[in-house]
Amino acid sequence: MIPHITNPTVGHMNSSISRQTRALWQLAVAAIVSAAVGAAGVLVWLGWHAILVSVMAGVALAVAVVRFVTWLQYRSGVYRCRFCQRPLRRPGAACDCPGVQAAREGR
Ligand SMILES: [Zn+2]
Repeated sequence: MIPHITNPTVGHMNSSISRQTRALWQLAVAAIVSAAVGAAGVLVWLGWHAILVSVMAGVALAVAVVRFVTWLQYRSGVYRCRFCQRPLRRPGAACDCPGVQAAREGR
């Protein structure tokens, strides 16, 4: 009863049904397209953030590992003074031997 009241073109039965069908299809297409666009948008957003977060985590881990390995190398005496061959204990730390001081003053 209610669709007959809300539909003024009930006299033309065929055109009314086709218009209703078209409206339903329009609605269905709009719903499907918007659902797909929304899903794709969220997927892209999530993907972008996943990439950003994973790259940041990778860089952070790389920095931590490099620091740890450098610390291990300094601890085991890999890096040595090029003048007196004494092992350097810290990155950027130079020993106080005459060779290093002479090189500093020479610069
Ligand atoms: Zn030295």
